[in-house]
Amino acid sequence: MTSAAETTEPAGDAGADARPEPAEEGGTFADLGLRPELLSVLTGLGYEEPTPIQREAVPPLVEGRDLQGQAATGTGKTAAYALPVLQRLPAGRTERDPAALVLVPTRELAIQVAEAFYRYGRGLGTRVVPVYGGQPIGRQLRALDSGVDVVVATPGRALDHLQRSTLRLGGLTTVVLDEADEMLDMGFAEDIETILDETPDERQTVMFSATMPRRLDALARRYLREPVRLQIARERPASGQEPLVRQTAYVVPRANKPAALVRVLDLEAPTAALVFCRTREEVDSLSETLNARGYRAEALHGGMSQEQRDRVMGRLRAGTADLLVATDVAARGLDVEQLTHVVNYDVPAAAETYVHRIGRVGRAGREGTAITLVEPRGHRMLKTIEHVTGSRVRVEKLPTVADLRARRLELTRAALRESLLEDELDRFRAVVEALTDEFDVVDVALAAVKLAHEATTPSGDDEDIPDVPLRPDRAGTARGEDPRGRREGGRTRSGGPVARVFIGLGRAAGVRPGDLVGAITGEAGLNGRDVGAIEISERFSVVEVPEPAVADVIAALRQATIKGRRPTVKRDQAGGGERPARRGAERRGDGPPRA
Ligand code: AMP
Repeated sequence: MTSAAETTEPAGDAGADARPEPAEEGGTFADLGLRPELLSVLTGLGYEEPTPIQREAVPPLVEGRDLQGQAATGTGKTAAYALPVLQRLPAGRTERDPAALVLVPTRELAIQVAEAFYRYGRGLGTRVVPVYGGQPIGRQLRALDSGVDVVVATPGRALDHLQRSTLRLGGLTTVVLDEADEMLDMGFAEDIETILDETPDERQTVMFSATMPRRLDALARRYLREPVRLQIARERPASGQEPLVRQTAYVVPRANKPAALVRVLDLEAPTAALVFCRTREEVDSLSETLNARGYRAEALHGGMSQEQRDRVMGRLRAGTADLLVATDVAARGLDVEQLTHVVNYDVPAAAETYVHRIGRVGRAGREGTAITLVEPRGHRMLKTIEHVTGSRVRVEKLPTVADLRARRLELTRAALRESLLEDELDRFRAVVEALTDEFDVVDVALAAVKLAHEATTPSGDDEDIPDVPLRPDRAGTARGEDPRGRREGGRTRSGGPVARVFIGLGRAAGVRPGDLVGAITGEAGLNGRDVGAIEISERFSVVEVPEPAVADVIAALRQATIKGRRPTVKRDQAGGGERPARRGAERRGDGPPRA
């Protein structure tokens, strides 16, 4: 994808200004030719303009072209294919069988994508059913049976339904393979082919992938017809053009973002900061939160009148506001002289946007700070950004409650010191002297410090924020996540008793599910379908394989190198060989997920 930087900045414009942004290269959702029902939903969601991938993918997809696109989570890729699918659905469609099938690697993503379709398709009454392993199959059967427009499925479960004839693909007009690289890594290639072979030849086929490994080519050649190809720009800025900005990222689950932002702002104590959000809704709710936490935050978004915008900028200029919360559109053409920090409340949808945002600090040789809050899945986008900016974004641990308390005490200490050096303190002498008759002078000082500290320190923001890792890979396991989300209910699809194999290498060594599946299929000659659940922890991994093959697998893996190492490989005794999850109905994947 090669969208240019978003706007040209007015050079050397001192102070703050909020001219309405020039209508420039981007265009609006309406320009993409979307129907009114979709446009009004997008406005309602507070989306101000399409992201670069949406700009480039929507028009050819609406026309019915096939497409192969490189896009990571966070680029807006879901809407880039969902909107055209919805656009192409016949109005008031009542057929029972689906018109579109979206295949995704994990249960978690199936739910997320189905929700996105549901959200965007609300105005059209679109019927969406997610289908994934680990959910009782009965519920899915009923949902499919009562009629559906879009099915979002993991390949294994889709295949189960296909074999039961509860999912019929003869009426499909569009198939989307989302996170295709990931699906191949997880050994779903065969399943995907079986599924695609059941679909009509004249279907539209769309493939999105964060990376473009060679293994995808075969799939693309076989199933895509003259696809439009979209790739992320690879240019780096000319040397010497890199911004002089300290770039830091914090990994924060979505639910903890407001608290995390407050904590980071408390620690960084910016003079003036610009906080970027994706949608108008987010701008409004975040500025409310920040105000409630004692910050003087102003909201700025494209839905505001020119008069309102001018008023906001006036307050910023006069120093009566210290945080500006804005969408990209609203912040265009805005130059705030005293800005010290730029905060990306979300990873921006394009690396160019990131470059553009952080270019607002660190100008003219001044130093600035860019802070990005990344959700655990944001790994790929962060890498792309590092690549495009040619600089490293340091992932740091969120300040802890203890750090924060220490920092606040430090601020109180500094304020007291300043007061001791500068202020006229004599008028308080009588108070201290009256108290020293009764108390020790140090105790009096302590009480005064306590009052001063409490008067300037916000309270009630010390909630626990879990320390989550940035996922080494989207298929990796974030803490607290059910590892079964990664692989179809953790069964070997060929059935039969399973054994667990312990491998003494884990996330710390960069092991990904694909490495293990690759080693087992390559070295032990098993089929990808025979590999069951894979759990990757920090220091080791456990893989389920068919019991009859376990000795061969262990022998073969002991000879293999994984990530350049010879790990310990042995039978994992925990969990045993005959777990209930292998019996009867559950072997077909309709049992509850393992706790
Ligand atoms: P995705 O890359 O599809 O996972 O989307 C990332 C996030 O961006 C989701 O939370 C979407 O709701 C949001 N999003 C997608 N398109 C837009 C847009 N044009 N404007 C604002 N937010 C968007």
